[in-house]
Amino acid sequence: MKRHPTAFLKEEYEELVKNDFDWKLRILETGSTPHSVVDGKEVIMLCSNNYLNLSNHPRLIQSAIDAAKKYGAGSGSVRAIAGTMDLHMEVEKRLAQFKRTESSLIYQTGFAANAGLIPQLVGKGDIIISDELNHGSIIDGVRLTKADRAVFKHRDMGELENALKDADKKYNRILVITDGVFSMDGDIAPMDKIVDIAKEYGAMTYVDDAHGEGVIGPDGRGIGAHFSIEGKIDVEMGTFSKAFGVVGGLIAGSQDLVNYAYNKSRTWLLSGSHPPAVAGAQLTAIDVLETEPEHVRTLWDNTKYFKKELESMGFDTGWSETPITPVIVGESKKAKDLSNRLYDEGVFALPIVFPMVARDKARIRTMMNAGLTKDDLNFALEKFEMLGKKLVII
Ligand SMILES: *Cc1c(COP(=O)(O)O)cnc(C)c1O
Repeated sequence: MKRHPTAFLKEEYEELVKNDFDWKLRILETGSTPHSVVDGKEVIMLCSNNYLNLSNHPRLIQSAIDAAKKYGAGSGSVRAIAGTMDLHMEVEKRLAQFKRTESSLIYQTGFAANAGLIPQLVGKGDIIISDELNHGSIIDGVRLTKADRAVFKHRDMGELENALKDADKKYNRILVITDGVFSMDGDIAPMDKIVDIAKEYGAMTYVDDAHGEGVIGPDGRGIGAHFSIEGKIDVEMGTFSKAFGVVGGLIAGSQDLVNYAYNKSRTWLLSGSHPPAVAGAQLTAIDVLETEPEHVRTLWDNTKYFKKELESMGFDTGWSETPITPVIVGESKKAKDLSNRLYDEGVFALPIVFPMVARDKARIRTMMNAGLTKDDLNFALEKFEMLGKKLVII
């Protein structure tokens, strides 16, 4: 057959552009700061995952510099061969103490943790039971296994229990997996109940708490701490790329889990370890969370204020329980329009539209930040109110 080997690249890209499904990159000309310069314009940043503003914390920056000076720019190898420095080990030890688990392991990213670990926990003859709204990196991790799959309705414990009952006799291992904080709606998985139900059926539990680490629970210690069930979730997975302000995937759990994971996860065994600057900043991020509780407190004060004000203006913020606050507007076009106009007014928040959320639930997803002042919030709120009225949303 005479075919053009790469014609699809252009065709499919053009199709995306035509349907307005392509990513139009916005370029930051500053750090990810509460006031950022995006495409030449100063804006209030409302869509960064840098919840605690730690990416700009002087101590994290200094630790990154110090580690680079001492150990160099790169680590030289994968962790398993010659890429484990004492600094990497120190971060893991410190992280386990912070998470109050026996042990911890750090991957290059959260995505790498899910893609590397999930396929090692289950295989043929096993089953994974997932919440229907789980994150794409969980879904990709699941795709790498030969295990069967079942899905339960979002946060529906009755459906979870039925799926477990069904699976109990037919399968060898059972893995129940869920996001901790759901990234589109900002609600929290009922992890205490999930752990109890799973235990009855001898199922493993795995939570992806990427948006919960550094945000929920006392001192931002994550979902285990939030429900006071530290050490009871078999796998607590999270990331340093969000509230911790750096980059890196983490798992916290038993020593058995960590021994197993680092001997089996292919993303960990076959991909270079973090540069020392990253490890240095990770270590200090944990230290800052332990010694400067004001960041988490301010994040929540800001969150409560912002949500309350939006709601009193008449906006629908869904069922968010966390600093992820969706402003639900309905059709995709309206959400995009609102986002563009907010940007023109100096507020940066992106629309989330179908297929990421239901067709009639298009929204602006705002993410709160501890570095925003009351004046910043009032400025953003005024713009939301003015445009909400103009676009007949409120
Ligand atoms: C962001 C995110 C990830 C990926 O984490 P990275 O460390 O940025 O790769 C995984 N799961 C969820 C739920 C996330 O929100």
